[in-house]
Amino acid sequence: MTKENKNPGWNFDNSYARLPQSFFSSQKPQPVRSPKLIIFNEPLAATLGLNAEVLKSEDGAAVFAGNHVPDGAHPLAQAYAGHQFGHFTMLGDGRAMLIGEQMTPAGDRFDIQLKGSGRTPFSRGGDGRAALGPMLREYIMSEAMHALGIPTTRSLAVVTTGETIYRETELPGAILTRVASSHLRVGTFEYAANWGTVQDLKTLADYAISRHYPEIEEAQNRYLSFLKELIKRQADLIAKWQLIGFIHGVMNTDNMTISGETIDYGPCAFMDTYDLATVFSSIDVQGRYAYGNQPYIGGWNLARFAEAILPLLDDDEKKAVKLAEEAISEYGKQYQANWLIGMKAKLGLFNDEEQDESLMEDLLKLMKKYRADYTNTFLALTFDRHEETGLLGSKEFSQWHKRWQERLDRQDETQAASHQLMKNSNPAVIPRNHRVEEALDAAVNQDDLNVMKRLLDVLSNPYAHTPDQAEYCTLPAPSKTPYRTFCGT
Ligand code: AMP
Ligand code: MG
Repeated sequence: MTKENKNPGWNFDNSYARLPQSFFSSQKPQPVRSPKLIIFNEPLAATLGLNAEVLKSEDGAAVFAGNHVPDGAHPLAQAYAGHQFGHFTMLGDGRAMLIGEQMTPAGDRFDIQLKGSGRTPFSRGGDGRAALGPMLREYIMSEAMHALGIPTTRSLAVVTTGETIYRETELPGAILTRVASSHLRVGTFEYAANWGTVQDLKTLADYAISRHYPEIEEAQNRYLSFLKELIKRQADLIAKWQLIGFIHGVMNTDNMTISGETIDYGPCAFMDTYDLATVFSSIDVQGRYAYGNQPYIGGWNLARFAEAILPLLDDDEKKAVKLAEEAISEYGKQYQANWLIGMKAKLGLFNDEEQDESLMEDLLKLMKKYRADYTNTFLALTFDRHEETGLLGSKEFSQWHKRWQERLDRQDETQAASHQLMKNSNPAVIPRNHRVEEALDAAVNQDDLNVMKRLLDVLSNPYAHTPDQAEYCTLPAPSKTPYRTFCGT
């Protein structure tokens, strides 16, 4: 008989804990009453080198609840600041804790963070806890984004705590285990710039470069290269959001990563009807983080990053400002170029023609005018579906369709190749708001996780275009009240 492998597979190397003390506060998570593991991401566990069989047991629940700190872990709350809705403030991990950095069998490093793990010195007035609904929501959204091919933090597990938390109502408490290539944020640099020495800032920048941009370590002005590379990654990420119709909802600078991963799934949601003004978040009354504003806000946040690292760019402040401005001015161009490439793929186009941008803009204008569903319009184009009503039934659309077909005919690639490109670029399924709500309602109010598991399963392969996905493409029944999302704090 083979001996059962009881090793959970933790393999920590805690580089963040080696930064100067002012960047964090070492502290254990606060234990919870009765941890229960309700969802566990086995494929992700496997890539992390973790033993799913061991971690699915009570031992795992104790770790993911913060009741047991595994060997080699170094739990800590990270310090950071940030611009929230344009206003600068001190923040930090007020309800989350990094427990350690897992080194995977492939040699990659991932932060293992518990979200909802109790109070820390950064909690201010908060209880440090999280509710089950929002933690499951982050699990669904982040895993859906990953499957859609968008850089993102991942979700490894959710445990319920057996404790009640108090918001507007009493809610079941939960903790999410979040996996990220790091939790360094624009806000971490703003913290260092405002409350640290220039040496602290330098140490942090060198650390971030070695962790996320090792290829520029030897660059002549590596801090300027760092800024330029971050701009590239964010221009790529935000273009991907726009192309898929993802609305982050709270693009504060503390929610913008240095790795280029999407982070902090609070009030985020996918757009259904195409409209640049779409806002779901209940707290975003001004529409600062509306769908159409996201590219602009990305640039605004990057400018805050550039300001924070100014002393590293050049000793002469004037020169530093000039270098920063030049770098930032590239962001808009890079974003637009990425968006164009992505939009071309969505329309099956391989080469470039001067009129392409207006072809796209005209389609989007029609989508807006006819209140067409963003995702399903691209699906209809991919599969050549026609309806008698709405956008697809309109004369204007027929004219646009003709232009598009002529454009396709002018390229060398076959129709089959275009069709394949479109299938790979237009998802069949996205986490539609009514489906997410249905899954959360079953999980939170009826103790039934099957609806969520089925949804996760469908979302795990969004470009498959299989018949069983069809029911997930349907739109919700019309509602008088617009869909609203909440921060879940
Ligand atoms: P977020 O909305 O998740 O980006 O959080 C913004 C800030 O509020 C961060 O500093 C969080 O740590 C803090 N925060 C959010 N919820 C809580 C809570 N329940 N208790 C303590 N701090 C919190
Ligand atoms: Mg945040």
